[in-house]
Amino acid sequence: MKVKCPECGERVEWSRDNPYRPFCSERCKLVDLGAWAAGDRFIPGEEIPPEAGGDDESSPPFPSAG
Ligand SMILES: [Zn+2]
Repeated sequence: MKVKCPECGERVEWSRDNPYRPFCSERCKLVDLGAWAAGDRFIPGEEIPPEAGGDDESSPPFPSAG
C-alpha cells in the first residue's frame, strides 16, 4: 500500500519498515513536527472552562466529624 507524504506529496510505501510513515523521510517528518511546534497548525477543541465551585453534591461543605 502506498500513501502520499503529507509534507511533500511523494508516494511512499506504508510499511512497518518505514519508521517515518506516513512521511517519506525523516526530513519530512521533522518538518511537519516543526510546524506543529511552531504553532502553524491549530488544533480545534473545546476550551476548558474554569472550575465551577458551589453546586457540587459530591463534596460536602464541611468534613464529616464523626
Ligand atoms: Zn516527504
